Amino acid sequence: MAEMHYGENIELNKLDKVAIIGYGSQGHAHALNLHESGVDVVVGARKNGKSWKKAKEDGLEVKEIPKAVETATLTSILIPDEVQTKVYKEQIKPNLNPQDTILFAHGFNIHYNQIRPPKNVNVVMVAPKGPGHLVRRVYKEGAGTPGLFAVNQDVTGDAEEIALAYAKGIGCTRAGLLETTFKEETETDLFGEQVDLCGGVTKLIKDTFETLVEAGYQPEVAYFESLHEMKLIIDLIHEQGLQGMWHSVSNTAEYGGLTRGKRVIDNNTKQNMKEVLKEIQNGEFAKEWILENKSGQPVLKRAREQEKNHQIEEVGQELREMMPWLKENQE
Ligand code: NDP
Ligand code: MG
Ligand code: MG
Repeated sequence: MAEMHYGENIELNKLDKVAIIGYGSQGHAHALNLHESGVDVVVGARKNGKSWKKAKEDGLEVKEIPKAVETATLTSILIPDEVQTKVYKEQIKPNLNPQDTILFAHGFNIHYNQIRPPKNVNVVMVAPKGPGHLVRRVYKEGAGTPGLFAVNQDVTGDAEEIALAYAKGIGCTRAGLLETTFKEETETDLFGEQVDLCGGVTKLIKDTFETLVEAGYQPEVAYFESLHEMKLIIDLIHEQGLQGMWHSVSNTAEYGGLTRGKRVIDNNTKQNMKEVLKEIQNGEFAKEWILENKSGQPVLKRAREQEKNHQIEEVGQELREMMPWLKENQE
């Protein structure tokens, strides 16, 4: 089994001043978790944006991006992947000192050569394997989100210790931290989000819902069956593995699931997954996404609109109103 790090021998004092660039999903979680772990944090944000105000309200030191980079020895780049190249060129790179460290939470821009850091800084990654809001929520609960770390460039000789300290500070080592490369993290992360996590699961939910509604069943019943119950099943799998879930459902569900599941997701699906993986590996997806951004995200905007107007969202909104406890965890 691969070596997992759980933080026992990791020294947080490897971290000097840390600049967190961006205060969105990952940014707010990293900044607050590090701060509460006792690390000296400055948030880098734009003065007219929402983040500036929010980070201040949360009691953190906030500076404009160039100033934050200048005062820190580690700069964590936590703005959206598609704006990183421009912000890096204009506001981060000119303010890096030799022997500084730049840190990413996803390897896209380094792996696909969109950002080419100077040879005199450390380049590392700490990628929590979970959405930012959960990275924050579980830390507050005393737990952690598992993560990956990688070192792409080590000029100080202790880039790995620095990355490990950062991972410990945001709580990843509480759950387990695994070494990877920028290539492996980028390709597997893109694959997961396109295939089973974001792309696959939403399509599966929508197709299940549509099939039931088109057959004349009530949309509310279809909603509970296709979407609401998904979490309950996934929670069991998450906590106890596939076996735990099969054990917990009825024998009827187990028999039906084991015999029908492979008809629904069949070998064609796996073939399609392999094609999606190939496009990630050969850079085709990256090229498409970079072009999409250059032309103002027309495909994304259209798809987003379509998704928003799906019947399942209408039904869901009403049903969730009656389950206010679901909202407790929203931020
Ligand atoms: P967000 O979309 O949440 O980032 C929003 C933040 O970026 C805000 O603070 C916003 O500031 C700032 N920002 C946006 N555009 C600019 C700009 N042009 N100049 C300055 N600041 C800007 O990002 P994520 O947290 O989703 O992603 C950050 C990184 O983490 C990415 O590399 C991503 O791949 C990675 N990652 C993300 C995960 C997630 O859970 N979302 C999971 C694991 C990795 P303002 O308020 O001023 O608009
Ligand atoms: Mg991702
Ligand atoms: Mg049932």
